[in-house]
Amino acid sequence: MIDSELFDVKTAILGGGLSGVTLARLLAQKGVEVTVLEREPNFGGLCRSVLDSGFTFDIGGSHIIFSRDAQVLTFMNDMLPQNSQRNCRSAKIFYKGQYIKYPFENGLNQLPKDDLFFCINEFIKTLIAVEKGKLPSPGNFREWIIHTFGKGIADLYLIPYNEKIWKFPTEQMSLHWVEGRIPRPPVEDMIKSAIGIETEGYTHQSVFSYPRKGGIEALVKSIASPVKKFIRTGFNVSSVRKEGEQYLISDGDNIIIADSCISTIPLQRLLESLENVPESVRKSCNELKYNSIACVFIGVRGKLQDISWMYVPDKELGLFNRVSFPSNYSPDVAPAGHSAILAEITYHEGDGVSEMPDRKIIDHVIKALKNMNIIKDREDIVYTALQRHRFAYVIYDLDYQKNIAVVKDFCAKLGIGLVGRFSEFEYLNMDGCIRNAMNFVRNINEG
Ligand SMILES: Cc1cc2nc3c(=O)[nH]c(=O)nc-3n(C[C@H](O)[C@H](O)[C@H](O)COP(=O)(O)OP(=O)(O)OC[C@H]3O[C@@H](n4cnc5c(N)ncnc54)[C@H](O)[C@@H]3O)c2cc1C
Repeated sequence: MIDSELFDVKTAILGGGLSGVTLARLLAQKGVEVTVLEREPNFGGLCRSVLDSGFTFDIGGSHIIFSRDAQVLTFMNDMLPQNSQRNCRSAKIFYKGQYIKYPFENGLNQLPKDDLFFCINEFIKTLIAVEKGKLPSPGNFREWIIHTFGKGIADLYLIPYNEKIWKFPTEQMSLHWVEGRIPRPPVEDMIKSAIGIETEGYTHQSVFSYPRKGGIEALVKSIASPVKKFIRTGFNVSSVRKEGEQYLISDGDNIIIADSCISTIPLQRLLESLENVPESVRKSCNELKYNSIACVFIGVRGKLQDISWMYVPDKELGLFNRVSFPSNYSPDVAPAGHSAILAEITYHEGDGVSEMPDRKIIDHVIKALKNMNIIKDREDIVYTALQRHRFAYVIYDLDYQKNIAVVKDFCAKLGIGLVGRFSEFEYLNMDGCIRNAMNFVRNINEG
């Protein structure tokens, strides 16, 4: 590489999504010299938003700000002092043509009577069997769902929905990530829900905030503001080589020499850029499962129902698993008198959706939303667009824990820090990414 330009930096951060810019900000606050290397023309990753024709859409799917982690929630809210709208969640499940309150177990009395009986009867039967020790402990995600909610809620909603979003059989998924995180709903709440007394589930998310202007990207932009000058966009990391105690990082044209290297890019991409990766490590990395997403953006004339977002478990209704209504989070994301709709379709590379042209996917979504009476008239549509992302959700299959341990161990030996959703290869929301960036910086300080 005779023509390459060489740059010396202290800490190189690979990837300028939320994790990369948060790390940069926190490290810079500690006086560490950082450079963020981001391959796209704009930083923000899955948290970017597109402003077009008066509409603002989150390109990585609909995003809201919420957290159980008080420190992280304060951090996020502090980033948007004048630009935040608080909303009460009004999420639904579109079930047999009706809107059922979300979470499903909190909306049981809205179900047809037979379905309500099936859900509550199976819940109680399961509860008794578990209490008597007659039900073996679950060994996979599907069994965990049945064990926790009973066969009724499992068959009518949780299994079809989960299989629609993950595009993966639930019996081939691990349960390590849900066990202990989602408790069995209290029996009192189930009875209340069945007879129509209001109950609330996932209360940490029942009130959420959203930037008034600029979409979710406003959050990353604000986090990045003190370190913007250290973000180098258009730098597609294609090789990372350790020489002595330093890292040589290249995009094919330029070489960055760094004293330390933290990766927030997908593990698969990091491994592609490393030399001499043992076959066993490559194999484990290749076996890690994830899915991709197509996000369909639709702008319509007029006002829509006051629903934040809805889950659509039924495969027959449409390819999308979730449809959100961002103009109900902030009126400023659509022109006056208009509304915004964002439909999310997950898929795997090589499957039917991955091969469908964008226009066909958009037409499918419009037709399905018209059948569901969400779009009243095609004439109301004033804007459509679509964005795809290869890395959308980590899928925890049964071999996940074995494979991820091999890959992380290899990266640790190289001294490359891993922070972020696809770098740690964990189901991290924004709060999880920020928490892990905070912990990473704290550990460096203590180390
Ligand atoms: C459909 C959907 C909805 C979501 N909704 C919510 C929500 O409501 N609330 C919430 O808290 N979280 C939500 N999330 C999660 C949230 O988007 C992620 O937690 C967060 O954006 C992950 O940030 P990251 O920086 O770790 O990863 P990314 O955003 O993936 O960033 C990685 C960055 O690395 C860059 N990169 C990749 N390869 C290279 C390379 N070779 N060289 C240089 N740069 C590279 C990418 O361009 C990208 O900018 C949602 C996610 C999805 C998919």
